Amino acid sequence: MIISPKIRGFICTTAHPEGCAQHVADQIAVVQRRPLLASGPKKVLVIGSSTGYGLSSRIAAAFGSGAATLGVFFERPGEADRTATAGWYNTAAFEKAAHAANLYARSFNGDAYSDAVKTAVIAAIKADLGQVDCVVYSLASPRRTHPKTGEVFKSVLKPVGAVYTNKNLNTTTGVVSDISIEPAQGDDIAQTIAVMGGEDWESWIDALLEADVLAPGAQTVAYSYIGPEVTWPIYKNGTIGLAKEDLERTQRQLDGKLAPLHGKAWVSVNKALVTQASSAIPVVPLYISLLYKVMKDQGTHEDCIEQMDRLFRDRLYSGTPQPDDLGRLRVDDWEMTPSVQALVAQRWAAVDTSNLNDLADFTGYQSSFLRLFGFGLAGVDYAAETNPDVPIPSLAHDTP
Ligand code: NAD
Repeated sequence: MIISPKIRGFICTTAHPEGCAQHVADQIAVVQRRPLLASGPKKVLVIGSSTGYGLSSRIAAAFGSGAATLGVFFERPGEADRTATAGWYNTAAFEKAAHAANLYARSFNGDAYSDAVKTAVIAAIKADLGQVDCVVYSLASPRRTHPKTGEVFKSVLKPVGAVYTNKNLNTTTGVVSDISIEPAQGDDIAQTIAVMGGEDWESWIDALLEADVLAPGAQTVAYSYIGPEVTWPIYKNGTIGLAKEDLERTQRQLDGKLAPLHGKAWVSVNKALVTQASSAIPVVPLYISLLYKVMKDQGTHEDCIEQMDRLFRDRLYSGTPQPDDLGRLRVDDWEMTPSVQALVAQRWAAVDTSNLNDLADFTGYQSSFLRLFGFGLAGVDYAAETNPDVPIPSLAHDTP
């Protein structure tokens, strides 16, 4: 079939296999331009490994440190006349590249919140690697089925306590207009914490510890975001921010549990970037468009791969992780530089539909969004007939 983007609001319902493969190849090339990180992780489990920060973590570990990787994700395969989701194609391309470089790579497509997937992953670690020395937790999900009770929790993106009104960008039309978001009600906060808080991260580490598949000195990291005050009502102080606070609480718990192994748990605060998860958050895409312009002009812009390479190289495996005073790793440091934030704030006050393209990098936002689904990559023939049914090598023989 000829595959073109079909955008519905903040999602694209198609993905291009060769475009996704090129996106993965471009990320591998970024990492390979830097020296191999000899002190880096050797056997890495990435939970949420198919897109965004998790995919880049897997690439940085494999191609930056020569690590064996296991990846867990929830994606849809292609059929003869229907494309797979982007994360499926990303993983197919990642595995092919890893195997070509003689790197172990095995993937699990299923619900990471379930006990069945945890059991299958642990069996694979025991059979193939013995133990892992790094666990990256990078899930972003709108819902979670609790593995013990079967209860389905839904995460919401809402302010807490009061209606939040601010500027919002329609990322399809380029129209900037005010949006008002009603505050959390009922058990919205508890539901969001149940999905995006730390309980499942802790369940993974508990299960890995109990099975004795964490190596001495193992590190685990989960990702968070803080951002500027203008987004705090919807992010840091909103329902998702409360879930991230829970993640930080979990990090301290996990530190204690990993201490006998001389291991360490971290929360890394990452930069705001265009991913499938972030494009669903109101207000944030306008902030990202303004931020991209400032950081690209300054020459400090990074994408997920540069962020994750820096996290491994300059923080987690540098010998000097440089935590902030709350013990978090900060690779949002360049984003939060006062000069960057002052310019973004000034432009935030001035931006409207008429000056969006002058003050913000809306074109860059849109092209980053399309790249997530494999569209707009150089060297890909989008007019060519393409087979959407692409296998992931390690899933051809085992799926939990
Ligand atoms: P993403 O949507 O690109 O990736 C989410 C991953 O989770 C995918 O691999 C997906 O397959 C997987 N997943 C979702 N539900 C699953 C399930 N039930 N079972 C197995 N896998 C499942 O998101 P992202 O933006 O890379 O977010 C990853 C983490 O990074 C999140 O914790 C997010 O809050 C954090 N973060 C994101 C940003 C940003 O700007 N994008 C900034 C800082 C921190």
